[in-house]
Amino acid sequence: MDLNWSDLAFKYRKTNAIIISRYKDGQWSAPVASKDFDFHFNAFAGVFHYANSCFEGLKAFRGADGKVRLFRPDENAKRLQRSGAHLDMAAPSEELFLEMCLMCVKENIDFLPPYGYNASMYLRPVLIGCNPQLGIASSEEVLFAVLGAPVGTYSGAKSLSPGTAVLSRNFDRAAPNGTGCYKLAANYATSLHPYNMAHKQGYRELLFLDPATHTKIDEFGSSNFLAIRGNSYITPLSPSVLPSITNKSLQTVAEDFGMKVEKRAVLVEELAEFEEVNACGTAVVITPICSIDDKAALEDTVVTKTYRFGDPTRCGAVSEKLYNRIRGIQDGTEEDIHNWCVLL
Ligand SMILES: *Cc1c(COP(=O)(O)O)cnc(C)c1O
Repeated sequence: MDLNWSDLAFKYRKTNAIIISRYKDGQWSAPVASKDFDFHFNAFAGVFHYANSCFEGLKAFRGADGKVRLFRPDENAKRLQRSGAHLDMAAPSEELFLEMCLMCVKENIDFLPPYGYNASMYLRPVLIGCNPQLGIASSEEVLFAVLGAPVGTYSGAKSLSPGTAVLSRNFDRAAPNGTGCYKLAANYATSLHPYNMAHKQGYRELLFLDPATHTKIDEFGSSNFLAIRGNSYITPLSPSVLPSITNKSLQTVAEDFGMKVEKRAVLVEELAEFEEVNACGTAVVITPICSIDDKAALEDTVVTKTYRFGDPTRCGAVSEKLYNRIRGIQDGTEEDIHNWCVLL
């Protein structure tokens, strides 16, 4: 494959095939590899009108030993089932989910980056309601597809280079008893506008607060919040946060290192006490955050307070140690003691 593996960034690239299965009359069809990347749907399909859609994101890695590893796909399968259930929509079994992810990697194997470029194949499973409807209803016919793309670091920036963030005081990504804990397409529609505003102002990340009281930290736009203070790993426990598999894995690794994991409500004021802050998710594992600006409203130019964490030029030492352990397990250079990886 004629690709520059060191300059992939995180963007769409056409590969060989996408994997598709359809649900109708209580059954999932046998998955097929399709070279056609266009879906042909009725214009009245629920996905276009009522966001009858949820998705996942996971990665396949080419290890130092040449083996191909998927990182915790069983967790993604379970989360997609929870998201689908919340849309009252059929979702694939864990077995079908895994089968289609493995198929996607095999069909696109020449797009899987070699070891050593800090690159991988991002897999995007999507569940889409596709039967025609006019009334507001859950979809009875569903398409499940697994798409793949070779990716490097999310922003194209050097891995672990710190970025800045801003608090969102006047926009929420989720409602207090809403859908924040499910990976729904609709959640992203909600956060696009504030996210664009933060980006235009030069911030890498936007940090959302708990929608009920706006006094506690929830998570960044597409990644969880984690902080290090002393020997503690601190991450918000909130019903409106998406349960990140990366966060869950980092917590386990932190415990393996003898750290204390605190999953609890995190007040905004506590930002003043944190030594290291990161955004975490599948795309980059962690993004170190070197400062967070607070303003009354996102559109304001006046910053009322800036919280700073560590050296703005490099990742914190504890965070880097956690990152290296996760990346090592993904690359097969560290022992997979928790049995997280599935080999192709
Ligand atoms: C997907 C996602 C994450 C990260 O979850 P991972 O399983 O670690 O990739 C965090 N927050 C939101 C809102 C998400 O959609």
